[in-house]
Amino acid sequence: MLYKRSSQLFAEAEKVIPGGVNSPVRAFKAVGGTPIFVKSAKGAYMYDEDGNRLIDYINSWGPMVLGHAYEPVVSAVIEKAKLGTSFGMPTELETQIAALAVAMVPNIDKIRFVNSGTEACMSAVRLARGFTKKDKIIKFAGCYHGHSDSFLIQAGSGAITFGSPNSPGVTAGTAKDTLLATYNDLDNVAALIEANKNEIAAIIVEPVAGNMGCIPPNKGFLEGLRQMCTDNGILLIFDEVMTGFRLARGGVQELLNIKADIVCFGKVIGGGLPVGAFAAREEIMNYLAPLGPVYQAGTLSGNPLAMAAGLAMLQALDSNPTIFKRLEDKTAYLHAGIDRVLKAHNIVFTINRIGSMISVHFDSNPVTDFKSAAKGDNERFKKFFHGLLNEGVYIAPSAYETWFITDALSYEDLDFTIAAINKVAQTL
Ligand SMILES: *Cc1c(COP(=O)(O)O)cnc(C)c1O
Repeated sequence: MLYKRSSQLFAEAEKVIPGGVNSPVRAFKAVGGTPIFVKSAKGAYMYDEDGNRLIDYINSWGPMVLGHAYEPVVSAVIEKAKLGTSFGMPTELETQIAALAVAMVPNIDKIRFVNSGTEACMSAVRLARGFTKKDKIIKFAGCYHGHSDSFLIQAGSGAITFGSPNSPGVTAGTAKDTLLATYNDLDNVAALIEANKNEIAAIIVEPVAGNMGCIPPNKGFLEGLRQMCTDNGILLIFDEVMTGFRLARGGVQELLNIKADIVCFGKVIGGGLPVGAFAAREEIMNYLAPLGPVYQAGTLSGNPLAMAAGLAMLQALDSNPTIFKRLEDKTAYLHAGIDRVLKAHNIVFTINRIGSMISVHFDSNPVTDFKSAAKGDNERFKKFFHGLLNEGVYIAPSAYETWFITDALSYEDLDFTIAAINKVAQTL
């Protein structure tokens, strides 16, 4: 494949945008080469500026669970745009999407919309601190909760890809209130709670981790966190920015039947527009301004275009509950295919999968936390990435990312992908 125009566009972008991109992982630094500039996308495919077609396994890092340019979402946005794009005043649409989200997700009474997953997690932690009147939080190494200061302590996603999980610019004062735990290790969490008695406001966790590859929780891990939180007056925050409305209608709370105190959303909830949200039972949510003392606001929060896209997306998922099973079946099919061809070429690997999230790690050991995820053979991943790209299959340009399966993928697309992996495996 040729990327002539993409390379030119990247050179121009680099002059006026740091690294040529508005979010670091897009720059291909972890895999080498120049990023591909997208012109358009439809269903399972993206088309780049050089006219190449790519089967997309990233889907805007998760939001496009029904495929690109999903017709009901596109028309909802177009129709709303004609009526004005932002008012800074309430609209009926905000209540409609809030009511639907509250109906779909267990254990929440109220929801507040923001503009990104970062904002959702940042606001959820502020709310938890205000509500519990405590300062510290526990987060897990390799989990990513957006780029706000408190979370850039051993963060996942682009932060690990670039070797800066602890970003300069985060003050020591902020960092000291973030305690770091190991994913899937309850003893470690118990020790932190013991050492910081009555100081911990919240434990924030990706209930299925997706930002160090895909790492499902071990049996009992989330149940254990729930119990420790309840016993110690700590709020359990599920960051479902990636998993919400993807792994089940009601997210991981529904899938694994565990109650969180606060839930964060992003990605799918915006249907591909910039949306985040956080939600909880009434007692907690009423602690927010204007009812309560914890301040949180946004000029464009609840923006009509974003809400129209999100509502059309949630309606589609709500009215077709079989989608989640179909997504899982397609992912299982892909899993079996990759497993078959990599084994045939004697390549050492581990595949993690849950629902429509899957990741391939070039290491033989189980991948259960940040340390084990970091053991993967990165040189091999680079070859794998570029080999697939050359075959017209786009996976994330980093070994620390999950692949996202969309309902727009056909079994022919999956077979095409497995055949491409078979071909690339010969070169690994
Ligand atoms: C993507 C992501 C975020 C950040 O969302 P942005 O919209 O990029 O700010 C937070 N948490 C998780 C689990 C995510 O996957």
